[in-house]
Amino acid sequence: MSKTKEIVVLPGDGIGPEVTKEAIKILQTVCKRHDKKLSIRSFPVGGASIDRYGRPLTEEALTACRKSSAILLGAVGGGKWNDQPKDKRPEAALLQLRKELDLFANLRPITTYKSLLKSSPLKQEIVSGVDIMIVRELTGGIYFGRPRFIEQTEQGERGVDTLSYTTEEIERVAHTAFETAAKRDRKITSVDKANVLDSSRLWRKTVQESAKQWPEIELQHMLVDNCAMQLVRNPKQFDVILTGNMFGDILSDEASMITGSIGMLPSASLGEEFAMYEPVHGSAPDIAGQNKANPLAAIASVALMCRYSLGMPEAAREIEAAIEATLNDGFRTGDISSKPSKEYLADTTDMGSAVLKHLNPYMQPGNLL
Ligand code: NAD
Repeated sequence: MSKTKEIVVLPGDGIGPEVTKEAIKILQTVCKRHDKKLSIRSFPVGGASIDRYGRPLTEEALTACRKSSAILLGAVGGGKWNDQPKDKRPEAALLQLRKELDLFANLRPITTYKSLLKSSPLKQEIVSGVDIMIVRELTGGIYFGRPRFIEQTEQGERGVDTLSYTTEEIERVAHTAFETAAKRDRKITSVDKANVLDSSRLWRKTVQESAKQWPEIELQHMLVDNCAMQLVRNPKQFDVILTGNMFGDILSDEASMITGSIGMLPSASLGEEFAMYEPVHGSAPDIAGQNKANPLAAIASVALMCRYSLGMPEAAREIEAAIEATLNDGFRTGDISSKPSKEYLADTTDMGSAVLKHLNPYMQPGNLL
């Protein structure tokens, strides 16, 4: 039996606890099957932590994350905490985790499932066979730049944010993107706004320089506005998309519609030492507490955890195959339902149990605990 893997779960707010609960059952199942010992500790984060401790992330939770093999996060946020000052809002926990753990590369795979092609608002011939990996820089750019403030002026209020990137910040995320592309179709599209922004001109120059170490990888540059259009026009042209923090945030939400729902998209945030896995979606206050959320993004995030942090690539493939088989069986949560007769409208728990059944038909969730 290998060394125990310490997993920290930060369920968060809204649908976060509902989807992480299903994802953890899957993780326990594959670890049991692959003889991997787990220790799982859970801490409130975001609004749940504000309600309990008065701040979105406690020192105790952060220390546990620093000792972990991997972190699974649900989602944070909700209207209840909108009036908090910005450093006390639920989302501050996310930014703090990313910065403190130096999780500079965010990997967001966008893949389509055959049985879900009808759920995409795009034409089936456009989305069929799409397989994109978005590599988004996560600890720099306009979400972290200083100064940032809102000030009173004679003309009224003025809000300021700062967009800055250093060569080092660009180089390290570019390295992750080139490494990723080397294991895929060897093509990178680096996305920027170099026709307008100086930070983008540095981005383009630095990525171009990094490319010299990877002569076998084809590199092209694309302006972000064009990329937003190309993702809808012909998403199959992309293999790896490398981009900055804000552009990546927006493009990956757009790309989620290729798969049919944001409830399908997992992500991995990787640094040199730590790794955090989370669904791309937010806390979805509109459906929270109703057992309606699609848990597949959280479950697919656990597959990424198995691949990148737990040394279990086989388990990752098993989870991904179980998700595909569940969809082929016709299980659909509301967000991916197109309502033909062969579909079963599933709630969050049904969907999690259906995936679990494909992983181990003899194991009931109760046997795991
Ligand atoms: P959202 O992703 O929470 O929801 C957008 C829409 O998608 C909603 O209609 C929601 O019902 C639906 N949806 C999202 N996930 C789903 C799932 N798993 N299954 C079914 N439907 C799903 O985005 P939003 O509404 O813009 O934000 C809500 C809150 O979440 C805000 O407070 C925002 O700041 C926060 N947020 C958090 C994160 C995060 O924790 N990483 C990311 C984005 C937004």
